Amino acid sequence: MHQADVAVVGAGIVGMAQAYAAAQRGVSVVVFDRDPQAIGASIRNFGMIWPVGQPSGKRHRMALRSRAIWLKIAAEAGFWIQECGSVHLAHHDDEWNVLQEFHALADSLGYETGLLTPNEVMAKSPAANPDGLRGGLWSPTELCVDPREAVRTLPAYLHKNVAIEFRFGTTVRQIDGMELETSDGQHWRAEQIIVANGSDFETLFPELFAKSSLKKCKLQMLRTRPQPEDWRIGPHLASGLTLRHYANFSVCPSLEIVKHRIADEQPLLDKFGIHVMAAQNRLGEVIIGDSHEYGDVFTPVCSGEIDQLILNELASVITLKDWTIGERWFGVYAKHPEKAYFVHDPYPGVKIVTGLGGAGMTLSFGLADSLWGV
Ligand SMILES: Cc1cc2nc3c(=O)[nH]c(=O)nc-3n(C[C@H](O)[C@H](O)[C@H](O)COP(=O)(O)OP(=O)(O)OC[C@H]3O[C@@H](n4cnc5c(N)ncnc54)[C@H](O)[C@@H]3O)c2cc1C
Repeated sequence: MHQADVAVVGAGIVGMAQAYAAAQRGVSVVVFDRDPQAIGASIRNFGMIWPVGQPSGKRHRMALRSRAIWLKIAAEAGFWIQECGSVHLAHHDDEWNVLQEFHALADSLGYETGLLTPNEVMAKSPAANPDGLRGGLWSPTELCVDPREAVRTLPAYLHKNVAIEFRFGTTVRQIDGMELETSDGQHWRAEQIIVANGSDFETLFPELFAKSSLKKCKLQMLRTRPQPEDWRIGPHLASGLTLRHYANFSVCPSLEIVKHRIADEQPLLDKFGIHVMAAQNRLGEVIIGDSHEYGDVFTPVCSGEIDQLILNELASVITLKDWTIGERWFGVYAKHPEKAYFVHDPYPGVKIVTGLGGAGMTLSFGLADSLWGV
């Protein structure tokens, strides 16, 4: 029987953040992942740490705490991170109204924002499409990482700095009391078990997941080839469609007008949950997406119709030097219809942490801090 104070199932960003917070309390931590390296939602995302999208109060503070931890860890682990900020672009009057309403409240709600004229937007980002541009909302708090690099680098950093042991290629087949049985035939005993298994609802505690209301969501993404001559888009860019997606804008009276217009004019965007954003990584590739389809099982392919809708929408709000798509993929995450995350103890000593939806990169470190009381 092997022993650890804390055993974590899953080496995605949620599991690694939990392991990091636990290890900082001086306890021994082992992390299991079924694959030779994490290949779930945590390496398939935009790499956006996006505090401005969180509703004001606890979740926004949690995102800002995550942001601080990302900056510290990236500096120590040596992976690329950029304090790029973000600009929400408005190409319709109703979108511009939402941005102005949000900015008017932002200071009192704890956000740092600035309203930009079209010329000021263009000065921040040469990628903004000036055609029909009403203005933009600047936020300085957003970060960019390359999730493939960050998630690949973190295990070695966490092992070296806080002595976390990683067991990759090892599925946790069963949890019985405070014992775990792994696919290599080993048995582990831990004082505390964290189940950060992402959207795998089938392997561990399947009955509990069936009753949890958690849903799986499939998202399609695309990545351009590196832009020529080191051309940079500047901050993360989000279109007016994105106003429908992030809870921070729910305080804006004009949001309903935006939602109704889009539903009337382009019902397919609602059907496939499309809103469009762009991030640029260190290599100069622009990551663009995305769509949201909820279900229990998904087709294994990316729909060409959805990709085209995403590209059409993006082309109406940004311009790129090179639109050649180098890669297409999809990711699946777990999401709860009402909660920002799903934290549940099936019994004392075991905690399931998942369901962070589209904010796992943004919230995981802050959530782990709050759960472990670091
Ligand atoms: C396309 C896309 C774009 C996104 N963009 C962003 C973004 O820009 N910003 C942001 O904040 N969030 C974003 N998100 C959300 C974010 O990526 C997720 O919330 C986050 O990655 C979820 O992390 P996780 O650790 O729960 O899941 P995962 O990364 O899926 O990790 C779960 C891990 O558990 C392992 N596992 C499961 N069961 C077992 C078992 N029994 N034994 C051993 N191992 C097991 C799996 O192998 C996997 O590695 C995006 C998500 C997607 C899909």
